[in-house]
Amino acid sequence: MEYAFFEGKFVPIEEANINIKTNSFHYGTAIFEGLRAYWNEEHQQLYILFAQEHYERLLKNAKALFMELPYTAQELVDITVELLRKNNIKQDVYVRPIVYFKDLALTPKLIGYTPEIAIYTYNFGRYLDTSEGIRVKVSSWRRNDDNSIPARWKVAGAYVNSALAKTEALIAGYDEAIMLNSQGYLSEGSGENIFLIRDRVAVTPSLNEHILEGITRRTVINLLRNDLVVKVEERPIARSELYVADEIFLTGTAAEVTPVVEVDNRKVGTGKIGEITKQLQELYFNAVRGNIERYRSWLTPVYEK
Ligand code: PMP
Repeated sequence: MEYAFFEGKFVPIEEANINIKTNSFHYGTAIFEGLRAYWNEEHQQLYILFAQEHYERLLKNAKALFMELPYTAQELVDITVELLRKNNIKQDVYVRPIVYFKDLALTPKLIGYTPEIAIYTYNFGRYLDTSEGIRVKVSSWRRNDDNSIPARWKVAGAYVNSALAKTEALIAGYDEAIMLNSQGYLSEGSGENIFLIRDRVAVTPSLNEHILEGITRRTVINLLRNDLVVKVEERPIARSELYVADEIFLTGTAAEVTPVVEVDNRKVGTGKIGEITKQLQELYFNAVRGNIERYRSWLTPVYEK
């Protein structure tokens, strides 16, 4: 039996349904998160990656939309552990929490409504090709601006912007879109942050370039600085820098560390996965699966030992 957490309790997934009149379904006024949990066969353990950090971001984003939930981040982590146990998950899995207004009322506003949270598990597999790398296209769609719908928050409605860009890229035969912000500088992918390597220095758009404050972005910055001893600059990045970069990769909970081997029909570096990207991938994939002792604090074990 597959369960979801819905309206305060665990129910069979078939019963976790919302009414078509649900306010947030109409206006995209929902906040969501995406977590991954990794199965370690040797440890016979499922590890949730950055559980506390994802729920802290969810609660902060929700608060910005006047959605006050009766849970702490720790309580939501505990609920997620219980959900994964109930579903007896013993493989890699994705977890999707979503906060929405459950009211059956038709005004696009954020006050006077009742927030609700649902959490379910999803079999994502690899989101993008992390082993061969992907081909990307700079989108004709601009990233939504902080003064329209902040990209800093994971607002459901803002993902129309992502969907437009991703669709344009897929129809044109690419794997992913890179969006520029309203100032014309690089922002991010449809669901990933972006990094370039130029002369052994990593550069990534700073947090005021209209991007999501990615948890993987922050993690990768630390891995680059501390483990790979690579300097990291957070700054505005011009589109033209993409075409002269030695390496490019995307980061995200779903995307993990995805190498970009081609951008707008130009090879990135040699057209093969770059050296720093490869080293970073190896570190990241080992750490998230619980194989690096010093990074065990990233992980919440699901099963009691
Ligand atoms: N940017 C966007 C637009 C995203 O949807 C995501 C996925 N949550 C990311 C970046 C990466 O964020 P994180 O590393 O926290 O998953």
